[in-house]
Amino acid sequence: MKQADVVVIGGSAAGIPAAITARRHYPEKSILLIRKEKQVLIPCGIPYIFGTIGTPENNLISDSVLQNNNIELIVDEAKDLSTAEKKVILASGESVLYDKLILATGSSPLVLPIPGFDKENVYTIKKDVQYLQNLLNALKNVKNLVILGCGFIGVELADECKKNRDINVTIVEILDQCLQIAFGEEACKCCQEVEDYLAKQGIHIITGAKIEEILGNDKVTAVKLSNGKEIKADALIVGIGVSPNVELARKAGLALNKGGIIVDTTMRTSDPNIFACGDCASKFSFFTGQPSGLRLASIATTEARIAGANLYEISRKNPGVVGVFSTALGNLTVAIAGMSEKGARQCGFEVITGEAEAPDKHPAGMPGASKMWVKLIFNKVNGELVGGAVKGGPSAGEFINTISACIQNRMRADDIAIFQTGTHPAVTASPIVYPLVTAAEIALKSMKG
Ligand SMILES: Cc1cc2nc3c(=O)[nH]c(=O)nc-3n(C[C@H](O)[C@H](O)[C@H](O)COP(=O)(O)OP(=O)(O)OC[C@H]3O[C@@H](n4cnc5c(N)ncnc54)[C@H](O)[C@@H]3O)c2cc1C
Repeated sequence: MKQADVVVIGGSAAGIPAAITARRHYPEKSILLIRKEKQVLIPCGIPYIFGTIGTPENNLISDSVLQNNNIELIVDEAKDLSTAEKKVILASGESVLYDKLILATGSSPLVLPIPGFDKENVYTIKKDVQYLQNLLNALKNVKNLVILGCGFIGVELADECKKNRDINVTIVEILDQCLQIAFGEEACKCCQEVEDYLAKQGIHIITGAKIEEILGNDKVTAVKLSNGKEIKADALIVGIGVSPNVELARKAGLALNKGGIIVDTTMRTSDPNIFACGDCASKFSFFTGQPSGLRLASIATTEARIAGANLYEISRKNPGVVGVFSTALGNLTVAIAGMSEKGARQCGFEVITGEAEAPDKHPAGMPGASKMWVKLIFNKVNGELVGGAVKGGPSAGEFINTISACIQNRMRADDIAIFQTGTHPAVTASPIVYPLVTAAEIALKSMKG
């Protein structure tokens, strides 16, 4: 029987940083990571397998990150967990004793209750090298591809599948616009530009419709929509919805809810020696404390760094999910942090917003400059920043992270108006029209008015 001070189950966005953090905080402890797959995909890179990077092999996390941190690896499936014996039982029959355990078992795609969902050539996005290789191979014989869902994953998949392929791509989205769940209606400026970009690539978007049935004998041949239309399909990729992998936790009798394994703000489960983080763990909003359904790699890694640090002494506290997203299509990047204006109002906040636009280099004629639009959303009552959206070129991806830092530090419009930035013509907007500061000033004017 094997034994380690710290055992981590799961080898992806949560499991790896949890193990590395444990190593950093507890250098004397033995650490062992169990994961079921031989090779681990970079989850966020999956859409790019179908275009830009070409194969699953080009989208792997190297095991050297474990070796370099003196973390032992077992490739096997954890089948059972005895909390009384502090023992994990593996599919191979081997057992591993732990002192502290971190569950980072992630999530799996939802099986949707659509008639015909089990037909051949209906794919979900499994984080599995062979499965994605099979999908990549299948695309060679696909003329008509339908993608269900126009969220971040759907738009990225559509764009990538269309690249270098003579293929008709249609996205079906139940809401009125793409990316609407993330951006809310008020940021439809971003959503519209994304739709325009996709249309330019020849991608067809059907909004306000649901796939009601997947047609065909063994294999999908078409999908039937709620508006009565049928669309030809040689393959359907479902780009929405995951459910937390909680089977092991359930067997061990850990407390669960709809969002996954219940954890407190230290990432501890109902068993004091077991922590959970990432997609398998339940989440709450930074703003309201209400349950949050967001599942992101950036959230998983943050939670992992809290769990790994807290194993033997509590030093970190989970502030809840802020929710920071970005996506890039060609030269267009759209990103959001925190609440959308609509989302904030739905949560009962009275809000004031400010918007600004400026080139992201100065002067605007500098090579590679893009226009950057920024929207900030403030709580009218105390002036604190509760959300932001950015649209621009590649620089928007890091810009949204600055906004996220302001949100997490509960900065008010007045603080942001005098935010000290470093600027340079080749890499940032001009300090005179810095859009973060201008948007805050505009919001302040409305607050005072
Ligand atoms: C197509 C796509 C694109 C995405 N893009 C982004 C993005 O751009 N930005 C972002 O922040 N998020 C993105 N996400 C979300 C992100 O991928 C997830 O939030 C992230 O993978 C969660 O990490 P995790 O480690 O919690 O879970 P997972 O990635 O699901 O990993 C779970 C791990 O646990 C292992 N495991 C599970 N059960 C067992 C067991 N019983 N025994 C042994 N091992 C087990 C699995 O094998 C795996 O190693 C994307 C997701 C998808 C599908």
